[in-house]
Amino acid sequence: MLNHDPIAFPKLDEAQLTTLGTFATLKAFQEGETLFAAGEPDCSFFVVKCGGVAIVDQSSGHDEIITVLEPGEFTGDVDILTGRPAVVSGVARTPCEVYEIAAADLRRILNDMPRLSDVLLRAFLMRRQLLEESGFAVVRVVGSRYDRDTHRIREFLARNKVPFTWIDLENDPQVDTLLTQFKITVDETPVVLCSTDKLMRNPSNVQLAECLGIRKPLAQAVYDLVVVGAGPAGLAAAVYGASEGLKTLMLDKIGPGGQAGTSSKIENYLGFPTGLSGSDLANRALIQAEKFGAALSVAAEVVGLSSANGYHVLRLVSGEEVSAQCILISSGASYRKLPVDGCERFEGSGVYYAATAVERQLCSGAQVVIVGGGNSAGQAAVYLSERASKVLVTIRHDDLGRDMSQYLVQRIEHTPNIAVRCRTEITRMHGNKTLDMVELTCRHTGQSDTVACLAVFVFIGAVPHTTWLSEAIQVDRNGFVKTGMHVAKSQGWPLRRQPFLLETSRPGIFAAGDVRLGSVKRVAAAVGEGAMAVQFIHAYLASH
Ligand SMILES: Cc1cc2nc3c(=O)[nH]c(=O)nc-3n(C[C@H](O)[C@H](O)[C@H](O)COP(=O)(O)OP(=O)(O)OC[C@H]3O[C@@H](n4cnc5c(N)ncnc54)[C@H](O)[C@@H]3O)c2cc1C
Repeated sequence: MLNHDPIAFPKLDEAQLTTLGTFATLKAFQEGETLFAAGEPDCSFFVVKCGGVAIVDQSSGHDEIITVLEPGEFTGDVDILTGRPAVVSGVARTPCEVYEIAAADLRRILNDMPRLSDVLLRAFLMRRQLLEESGFAVVRVVGSRYDRDTHRIREFLARNKVPFTWIDLENDPQVDTLLTQFKITVDETPVVLCSTDKLMRNPSNVQLAECLGIRKPLAQAVYDLVVVGAGPAGLAAAVYGASEGLKTLMLDKIGPGGQAGTSSKIENYLGFPTGLSGSDLANRALIQAEKFGAALSVAAEVVGLSSANGYHVLRLVSGEEVSAQCILISSGASYRKLPVDGCERFEGSGVYYAATAVERQLCSGAQVVIVGGGNSAGQAAVYLSERASKVLVTIRHDDLGRDMSQYLVQRIEHTPNIAVRCRTEITRMHGNKTLDMVELTCRHTGQSDTVACLAVFVFIGAVPHTTWLSEAIQVDRNGFVKTGMHVAKSQGWPLRRQPFLLETSRPGIFAAGDVRLGSVKRVAAAVGEGAMAVQFIHAYLASH
């Protein structure tokens, strides 16, 4: 049974019940009758008038009561807004009367009644959190921690808030029993058990999304705005776009959150002095966007961009097409990885792409290695040297001043516990669960030595996700999208007016966040640009 937390399970007062009653149909259920069943999409919202409604987990084949809702309490969690299939069932515990409200009407209520909306949204978010913390799972993943597809599947489920358990081939005692039960071999993993009778061998994200019912066919409509990438920039654009009346659709190849979704704690986001996790930020932003009517399609990788009949057309990996008056490119970037065996295995447990207070704390008294010779590497070296016993900066060439500002070069030279190794690269990483040693090789002589190292910080640039763009969208030599003055200065801008600040070389297509040339690569900056882009979109639509 879940703890009957007052935020997760508030009781609505008489006035709130009367308001809701005007949108509702009153229904009666006999004991044991089902109000909604797990797996059912677009469930209605129910408020208990009298009697009791049990919320039941049926995923293991038998009924397990999670909680019992009493008069004044209501059903639903975050899935009720997205129309995704319910993960639990609602069953009349006693003869009962309930108010039933359709999901579309619930969205209208959330928009029109801010006080009631606060109570309901906080409850929906808290319920999913409590459910996840209780170990509840609708899906089991069996695979090795060293396997890329297992990692992809886990990331997909986590980003989409699908409660799951992971059975690690390497050390989970249940593994053999499960493999025998489902007649699968280790070579056939990863496998995903979606219910007691549905097993998928190494499913793609699209197959997984379809099996779980979290991917809906795209509506055959022309959108005012289609956002490619639901990271902070895309989510912000969807919130502002939808709240200002634009028919808005977000497409993401995985799910909401972007890079920020992988951050365990964002400490520099305005207004959250104690920090917040990237997944919490994404979850809240998604609910906000959906509350205003924006739609999100997940496992929706965009692979092409063209024009037809005066609209921009996006082609998805599934073959589907979406048309829009305006497009926002917010497909972000990934940090470039080191081409070294074992690098990915130690990500998060020895290999880092940021040097914030969190990582610095981990390095207290230890030796660390920094890879890269730009300003971000220099800043990290100085910052980490305050705690680490020694910082080794490795660069592939032999001049630290080539890519780094002079002030940082001087600071590094004057800091006794920072050493610079020129013409050097990491060729091997060693460690059991966490990193403890790296092999450094001189590119000039080929000689190697192994040094103790608790953490490697990689600052060798970011790779933008822009391979799907057509040639009509200008990018710089590294693939970052040019906007505003970068476009105005170049050949090929087709209109008399100047491009808007975030407009690309094709009028009506905008870019925001890490994918944009000159962006700041911060959550707050991405959110700000996503919001700003919507103002330019309004101006574009007004003049078009
Ligand atoms: C581990 C980590 C920790 C960080 N910590 C901080 C921090 O503490 N503070 C801070 O300010 N910044 C931090 N950052 C940086 C911050 O997360 C990014 O600057 C921010 O997420 C950029 O947002 P974005 O929306 O531009 O792009 P992204 O977050 O990269 O999102 C892009 C989205 O586009 C999707 N996508 C890509 N290609 C396609 C396609 N073809 N079709 C459909 N969808 C596509 C991706 O799946 C992704 O969801 C951190 C980054 C990382 C990796």
